[in-house]
Amino acid sequence: MKQWADYGVEGFFHGTEPWLEYHDKLTKHLAVIVGAEPSELVVMNQLSVNLHLMMVSFYRPEGKRNKIICEAKAFPSDQYMLETHIKHLGFDPKEILIEVSPRPGEYNIRHEDILKAVADHREELALILWGGINYYTGQAFDMKGMAAAAHEAGAKIGLDLAHAAGNIRLALHEWDIDFACWCSYKYLNSGPGAVGGVFVNSRYHHDPGIKRFAGWWRYDKPTRFNMEKGFIPIGTAEGWQLSTPSILLFASHYAALTVFSDARMNNILEKSSLMSSYLFFLLNDIIREQFSDKLAIITPTDPREHGCQVSMFFREDGRFVFNRLAENGIFADWREPGVIRIAPVPLYNSFSEIYTFADCLRQVLR
Ligand SMILES: *Cc1c(COP(=O)(O)O)cnc(C)c1O
Repeated sequence: MKQWADYGVEGFFHGTEPWLEYHDKLTKHLAVIVGAEPSELVVMNQLSVNLHLMMVSFYRPEGKRNKIICEAKAFPSDQYMLETHIKHLGFDPKEILIEVSPRPGEYNIRHEDILKAVADHREELALILWGGINYYTGQAFDMKGMAAAAHEAGAKIGLDLAHAAGNIRLALHEWDIDFACWCSYKYLNSGPGAVGGVFVNSRYHHDPGIKRFAGWWRYDKPTRFNMEKGFIPIGTAEGWQLSTPSILLFASHYAALTVFSDARMNNILEKSSLMSSYLFFLLNDIIREQFSDKLAIITPTDPREHGCQVSMFFREDGRFVFNRLAENGIFADWREPGVIRIAPVPLYNSFSEIYTFADCLRQVLR
């Protein structure tokens, strides 16, 4: 705000934090959180918008190689994105999308079933588009294994990390992911409607064949303001930008990211894992005690297969339980037909809050 008051538009070039370089401050911290080189990251727009933009570059159907493997019942925005993007290319989503579901009677998708879908469609597969963590069940997926399978079949892999960024260990570069998108207002704490993030694998930065939509903000920085025709894109993920970013959104994102870097990602992940072990322990105790007919945990218990989130499926009275929890100051999340999601977050929740939650749940059930 001070920078704006003192310099107006010249704040892009002057002052202690010139806005033209502000982006680098974000990618430096984000690189640690998502496991990437800073040059592979661009902070721009929001999640659904970015997914469409990445599809332009990474979903290039050719002949019979036009299929997309995705999770059944993905977050609605991702389903709408896929449906409309496929239609805009002149295809029928029913012909293109291969959805992998949990087996009958199961809540989670088995990794072997994803690999089988890839194997069954080897010749026709163009892209796997998958969520790092399923928003409904809290299941975390073997993204490295999926990337290897996609590439082995001659396809690409894109990830939606809305529920994974800032929540679990990610190594996008090492896993050889092609692209990934996330929002910054869930585990990244950057405020409602915060600016989104994108990973573009460095192997594409100088690929002249890659298709992308352009705007002036992707233009090489030193000459951007010459405003000449034709363009030289920035040779990093920033070359996927279109528009002038909101520095106010950048600033709130930066404030949130510095908390992560002060606390250190390893510490955050370690506390997270202890917190969820404790939560699983307390919940299993309640279920064993007397309520196994009433509720089930649908989040996988293996620590490699979940982050903070634990989803409980209530066979009956779920809504009643949810309302009583809220009356006791516990803000969980309700999803039809009977799921309550809670997510104790290491940066601002405590072990005693987990205990209080479990105690309250037990009383309500009784
Ligand atoms: C929250 C969420 C979104 C929301 O997208 P916006 O464009 O930021 O509104 C999309 N996909 C998933 C998987 C989400 O969890």
